[in-house]
Amino acid sequence: RPSVVFDNVTFGYEPERTILRGLSFEVPAGNHVAIVGPSGAGKSTIARLIFRFYDPQSGRILIDGQDISTVTQASLRAALGIVPQDSVLFNDTIGYNIGYGRHGASQQEIEDAARAAALMPLIDRLPQHFDTEVGERGLKLSGGEKQRVAIARTLVKNPPILLLDEATSALDTRTEQDILATLHRVAENRTSLSIAHRLSTIAESDRIFVLNDGRLAEQGTHTELLRHD
Ligand code: ADP
Ligand code: ADP
Repeated sequence: RPSVVFDNVTFGYEPERTILRGLSFEVPAGNHVAIVGPSGAGKSTIARLIFRFYDPQSGRILIDGQDISTVTQASLRAALGIVPQDSVLFNDTIGYNIGYGRHGASQQEIEDAARAAALMPLIDRLPQHFDTEVGERGLKLSGGEKQRVAIARTLVKNPPILLLDEATSALDTRTEQDILATLHRVAENRTSLSIAHRLSTIAESDRIFVLNDGRLAEQGTHTELLRHD
């Protein structure tokens, strides 16, 4: 279970507009850390930098003590699992959707991931189980069901780090609670970084960082931050 460290990271998409201004924070190994902040604060940018879709203009990002600019894209991707807000499913079978990211995923690995994502009640109801087609031509899944498929797809890689990027923001409150319970369970043996805009979805984080104007405005536990409001 690796740690994730931002060390004085500065980044902007355009040279004249800085988004992150010397941002430093640590997600200790095995901890569950959340980043909150207003829309446009740079939260998703943090996730994009961790994936190296972009590189910082200055500063370093370390995973397990290693500067991510010095590791291969393959080992970086193997370390990271992301659950995005709106998961796009392929017009293909459930099994393909769970196993696509790792073309060698065995039926057993796909089933284990589906079980961990609490997908089995749905799959057991489907006429062809993992071979049922979903998407445009197939069965339409609800938002919560799609998120469970996305969680299973992420877990099939068995990533030691989970990045949750507004993973439940698009869901209604009840579905959100169900998915959050699943996410807490699957994050248990991993390091997790959860990006959110509502404090209510990250109550169980070990530590919460409040991002504002590219810097950490505040940090604390959920109770500490609520006390400040
Ligand atoms: P958050 O996730 O906190 O809502 P983002 O990280 O998505 O914020 O975006 C931070 C800022 O960067 C916003 O002002 C956004 O408009 C800008 N931004 C995001 N992506 C790009 C891009 N590809 N090119 C230029 N600006 C971008
Ligand atoms: P794989 O190894 O299966 O490609 P990844 O975990 O690398 O799996 O990515 C899963 C999916 O999430 C990919 O389609 C990738 O493009 C997408 N993705 C990666 N990073 C982000 C991000 N920051 N926001 C939204 N989607 C992302």
